[in-house]
Amino acid sequence: MNVNELVTVLGSNFQKQKSYFNLSSFDDIKVINTDTREIQKGDVFIALSGKNFDGHLFIREAIEKGASIVILEQEALVNSTYKVSHIVVGSALKAYQQIANWWRNKYKIPIIAITGSVGKTTTKELIAASLGMYGQVHKTYDNYNNEIGVPRTLLKLSKHHDYAVIEMGMRDLEEIRLLTKIIQPTIGIITNIGTAHIGRLGSKEAIAQAKCELLSEMSLDSIAILNNDDELLMKTAMRIWKGKTITYGLNKGDIIGKLINDRTLRVEGLNFPLPLSGRHNAINYLAALAVTKSLNLDWKKFTKQIKVEMPQGRSQKNYLPGDIILLDETYNAGLESMKAALNMLKDTPGKRHIAVLGAMKELGVNSSQFHREVGETAQALGIDVLYILIRDEEARAIPNGIKNIDGVRNIKVICCLSPEKLFEQLINDISEGDRILFKASNSVKLKSLVEQICKYF
Ligand code: ATP
Repeated sequence: MNVNELVTVLGSNFQKQKSYFNLSSFDDIKVINTDTREIQKGDVFIALSGKNFDGHLFIREAIEKGASIVILEQEALVNSTYKVSHIVVGSALKAYQQIANWWRNKYKIPIIAITGSVGKTTTKELIAASLGMYGQVHKTYDNYNNEIGVPRTLLKLSKHHDYAVIEMGMRDLEEIRLLTKIIQPTIGIITNIGTAHIGRLGSKEAIAQAKCELLSEMSLDSIAILNNDDELLMKTAMRIWKGKTITYGLNKGDIIGKLINDRTLRVEGLNFPLPLSGRHNAINYLAALAVTKSLNLDWKKFTKQIKVEMPQGRSQKNYLPGDIILLDETYNAGLESMKAALNMLKDTPGKRHIAVLGAMKELGVNSSQFHREVGETAQALGIDVLYILIRDEEARAIPNGIKNIDGVRNIKVICCLSPEKLFEQLINDISEGDRILFKASNSVKLKSLVEQICKYF
């Protein structure tokens, strides 16, 4: 990238009068960095600012480490102290996103963007593993799925990549629209419409609208891949999207999967070993199959087991001595993912099925009702024992969903006020052949309980 390109990319965000630069220093901008810990000689440093940080405070460090150019919002900071090329912009964040979009456009490869209430990361990993059988895949790492993370991911695209799979997270309206404009996907996927962030958005319809901003912003020659089992998604999407669509589902769709057993999915006459267990993960895998189909890749490769490495706390199995399996789902929890995980627990053959649950956060006025539904689901599925960490107020509603049937509760419920008490109870109770699920919102920190139990056994 040279100066002319940069100025064109920045458009009206560029403030010419306040900027100072030496043309020759712009000949070859290769790395755009926002983190001084990673800066190397010749990089461009963008001084991003947010609620809890101000990149302008790190300009000195960036320059000392050899940054060739600084892009910033407050020129006074560099003018008075250093003579370094700097570009002043109205918004440094916007500049970062503009440059990331420019960078993305250098690569004429399939770029797959994923949103949805649950299953984004899992679907991303399944797609990346599937496409990995055919070429080099670039994908979102960690949780870099927001207005800063997505540009960061795009800026790491290189000529070695054949595909990119990018996750888009959101908390509010207009966020998916912005991310889609930056990514300009050739394929867009919406996994489902659930209740995550309903406290903020107000209704499932508003959530559907927010997710479908992906479709409003995709170019008409791209492909939408949609979960046909989700009625609200399909209804909202079809009002907005007029381009090519591939739908998938366990019930209906262009690509219909039939679960032969908990490890095998049958689609269009072929049997596919499932990389991850659970009915919800079979649905996520159908999205991956839809992507490979849209790219005309032969499905035969997937009739052999493909390997997927999931990030911590999602669909993770820990095998303990005495044929005990801990299902670690502690990364996060919302209503749909709680139900999916309870189903997965029940589908895992074993002696007793035990669920260790904590609060689901950010559910607003629906919180009590959703927690009750979790209790109802556990009972309906026939879970044997339910441990509930009731330190958080929200979790106290879970037992309210459990009814006395014929005068008895067919599920044993144990409420604990602290993780320490929970640990004590569990180690005395767990026995050979048990299957134990751990799930709660991330902030409940059930993860450390899983670690403690693994250590103990
Ligand atoms: P987040 O936005 O919190 O990062 P995500 O959308 O990336 O979540 P994943 O990380 O893939 O979702 O999965 C989170 C949890 O949701 C999983 O541990 C699992 O319990 C559940 N889950 C995954 N896929 C589905 C699905 N298709 N339907 C219901 N629940 C699902």
